[in-house]
Amino acid sequence: MGSPVSISFAANLLYAFHRQVGNRISVDMAPRKGPARAAAQQDAEAPGDGEAEAAGFSAHYARAGAEDPAATAATPPALYSPEAIASATPSMAQYLEIKAANPDCILWYRMGDFYELFFEDAVVASEALGIVLTKRGKHLGEDIRMCGVPIHRADEYLQRLIRKGFRVAVCEQLEDPAEARRRGAKAVVRRDVVRLVTPGTLTEESLLEAGKRNYLTAIFRAPGGDSALLGSADRVALASLDISTGECEIGETSGADLPGELVRLSPGELLATDGLLAESELRKWIEIAGAAATPLPNAHFDSVSGERGLKARLGVTELGGFGSFSRTELAAVGALLKYVDLTQLGKQPVLRPPRRTGASAALLIDAASRSSLELVRATSGGKDGSLLAAIDRTVTGAGARELASRLAAPLRDASEIHARLDCVGFLVEAERLRADLRDALRSAPDIARAVSRLAFGRGGPRDLAAVRDGLAAAETAAVKLTAGAGAMGLPSALEDIGARLAKAAGPLQSELAAALVDEPPHLRRDGGFVRAGYRAALDEAIELRDASRNVMAALEARYVEETGVKSLKVRHNNILGFFIEVTQQNAKPLVSPPLSDTFRHRQTMSNAMRFTTTELVEIEGRIASAAERALAIEQEVFAELSGAIAAKEADLGAISAALAELDVVAALAELAHNEGYVRPEIDDSDAFEIIGGRHPVVEQALAQSRAGPFIDNDCVLGRPRVEAPSGFDEGKDARIWIVTGPNMAGKSTFLRQNALIAVLAQMGSYVPARSAHIGIVDRLFSRVGAADDIARGRSTFMVEMVETAGILNQATDRSLVILDEIGRGTATFDGLSIAWATLEYLHDVSRCRGLFATHYHELTALEGRLSGVANVTVDVKEWHDEIVFLHKVRAGAADRSYGIQVAKLAGLPAKVVARAGEVLKLLEKADRRSGGTAPLDELPLFAAARPVNPIAEARGPSPVEDALGAINPDELTPKKALDELYRLKGLLRSARTSSTN
Ligand code: ADP
Repeated sequence: MGSPVSISFAANLLYAFHRQVGNRISVDMAPRKGPARAAAQQDAEAPGDGEAEAAGFSAHYARAGAEDPAATAATPPALYSPEAIASATPSMAQYLEIKAANPDCILWYRMGDFYELFFEDAVVASEALGIVLTKRGKHLGEDIRMCGVPIHRADEYLQRLIRKGFRVAVCEQLEDPAEARRRGAKAVVRRDVVRLVTPGTLTEESLLEAGKRNYLTAIFRAPGGDSALLGSADRVALASLDISTGECEIGETSGADLPGELVRLSPGELLATDGLLAESELRKWIEIAGAAATPLPNAHFDSVSGERGLKARLGVTELGGFGSFSRTELAAVGALLKYVDLTQLGKQPVLRPPRRTGASAALLIDAASRSSLELVRATSGGKDGSLLAAIDRTVTGAGARELASRLAAPLRDASEIHARLDCVGFLVEAERLRADLRDALRSAPDIARAVSRLAFGRGGPRDLAAVRDGLAAAETAAVKLTAGAGAMGLPSALEDIGARLAKAAGPLQSELAAALVDEPPHLRRDGGFVRAGYRAALDEAIELRDASRNVMAALEARYVEETGVKSLKVRHNNILGFFIEVTQQNAKPLVSPPLSDTFRHRQTMSNAMRFTTTELVEIEGRIASAAERALAIEQEVFAELSGAIAAKEADLGAISAALAELDVVAALAELAHNEGYVRPEIDDSDAFEIIGGRHPVVEQALAQSRAGPFIDNDCVLGRPRVEAPSGFDEGKDARIWIVTGPNMAGKSTFLRQNALIAVLAQMGSYVPARSAHIGIVDRLFSRVGAADDIARGRSTFMVEMVETAGILNQATDRSLVILDEIGRGTATFDGLSIAWATLEYLHDVSRCRGLFATHYHELTALEGRLSGVANVTVDVKEWHDEIVFLHKVRAGAADRSYGIQVAKLAGLPAKVVARAGEVLKLLEKADRRSGGTAPLDELPLFAAARPVNPIAEARGPSPVEDALGAINPDELTPKKALDELYRLKGLLRSARTSSTN
């Protein structure tokens, strides 16, 4: 039978996939059930040599998405039509059939040492990979385009295609070509797709980043809602699985909070129904979150199969032990597991007990705040410059992933936060223990990823060794923890980590240690990874193999002696096997009697002759069979060890999670110790008292560039519990601070550092401050008067207003809101009015805690009007007409904005600075006259005569002025006058072009 796997895959999928997200190609077409192809293997031609009827590969790629999958399924493209396949040569038919079953993927078709790509796949991939496009044979009179990827560079090219959002179907040879030849001279080698590689289903180390999770996430909207999901209160379930580690999380959120969740999860690939993906706003967020979108038919979102699958993978009959799951969540799980099944062709992933996530569990941070605060990614896109990069002191890939996931989802439950802080605190104090644990962790490989690869049958000897070394590291860490517990014992969360690590000691670890050599090779295929002494039969076979090799060496020496040809050699190559080689000049004795009876001629080369003997053939046979036997035993050992690991999958999952958690708490302790962080006090009050707070990222950047010390600052929102910072009103319950001060004074830094301190505290980390008391924050908002969001096609002001609306609708009295220069994107009075009204609303209705940086000094008047508002300013000092930034926050409002001094510092030409100074004086004079309330068009800049402009004066008359001066209107004819007018216009145009250049 031909292609059983891909045919059943096609039958299951019966559907058209996608693609037109970003630079992804849109493919939309239905695989059809290919006819069984018993006859297909009877021909030995390569696909490109055939004459098959094939039309429209390009047309197939270009087709637009059809709404109804069933409709798409009904119109198979001509290329895969039964007629096309029936009339093709067997090898071409084999290719077409496999391609037909995987129409949405680029097909990598194994031929010897290459993966070959044909037709449109070749065109698309050669362009994406920058490799040569060639042709082979003809189709309907047209060249078949083709390109190839050598096996040894396959991973590298695969990674590049996946990064660009493509999906790849890997089609392998399922038998040795020799086997095919045995069936008949023209038999086609059996091939089939063994795996679909998509952005969310990667397992290879070379395709993954060590410190980054790679989620495959399915989203499913609860039945009922039919208007736009985004921004609505409708429920939507998210189920995520990293198949490279088995990490899994399931939860529900609202349509309004969905973008924040997507950015938090940052999946590699997102699965959703067509209907949901039709929402363009949602597609944009998916793209921003960095995911490739894959539409699936509604039928895949089946809660019954989701529940069944989840129970089966977790090995339970009831899910109660893991929490309660809604039908919507189980439907998302259903699609997720189904997709894994389809892409892994039935191979089962490892699944760790799912984490429950949802609105009530975590500090909610919306998508815009996440990017504005640069939590795990900096604005530039990479990790550098983010909070994560500044605090990451982990020493393992799994630890780095756990840290990133904690940072992306800070907690909201005070007792859980305390439990984490207790662990960190313990390891801050226990310095020796911390160093020992980090040493042990450094030698711990990524057990989770190794176990997952082994489960998918893609593991190698190094994955076995990774489990062995990981278990050894876990055992060492467990022993150290117990020994380091001290009289007081360990905090309970650390004790729990220790208990899980202790499971590492046991028969599996000793078995792996006994069975494997210290440093096994990468590939399982060639053997060489089983330790001598582990299996007697293997030792025997190896001895025989090696002894026979010695016999071969002895044979060579004897033949040299017998023939008298000193340069005679016994050599080996893949075609002839072992042979005897002499140069042409020395061949004579071997081809003449009596030696010609022993030495049989095999090959004549330009410079050498090759021979064989009965003895040689016999010894070669012995070597080959001993080597084959040794290899077979090694494969057996591999299978046994993989089986033993699979049997302990759950324990290994728990151990690898414990190692990751230990790495995180030890790393946070190291950070706290090295950077002088303190334990925050966390409770359910509405306090926000940060004394001597610092910005974790800016502080480190200043230290690295030796640009002077970071100036710490207090931030006390609400009624001070202990004492008010100097200059503040003791009795005032100021929940919102208005922060003024010149540009570059440090307003943004101050705002963000307080938001980051809240995030750090609630993720269970120490914080950069002298002391911190934080009443749990439920939602965190951070907005900067935004830059134009051109990618999303909205203006600065529009973005700002949409985002501000989001805050006003969602902030509660437990939220923390950071607004930096809101209202900047419109006319002064509009902006001021919007900022004013926003502040009033946050104060009166939301009643949140907040920091509001503004350049509208008018807003400082709110301090007197609203009981919960206080003014602070970031201090500067004037010195010889220059300003010095002190970066110190104090009570009160800035007296001026110092914009012109800052502009001078920035290197604006002296003339412009002088002119700006004059204009400012005029404006200020008029403002004083009118009591500070004059609308702009009444100000002297517009009403009074314009003073002589020093810039224009310095430049002298322009060419237009000169030309105008030279004209005498009395002497002009009407035609001449018109010509002069054109000339003047021309002069004006060229003057403008040269001034803008
Ligand atoms: P603003 O928002 O007022 O324009 P920023 O917060 O962007 O100012 O700060 C400008 C620069 O000043 C920062 O890049 C940083 O280098 C420096 N800076 C800000 N705050 C401090 C501080 N507290 N201590 C030391 N340097 C600071």
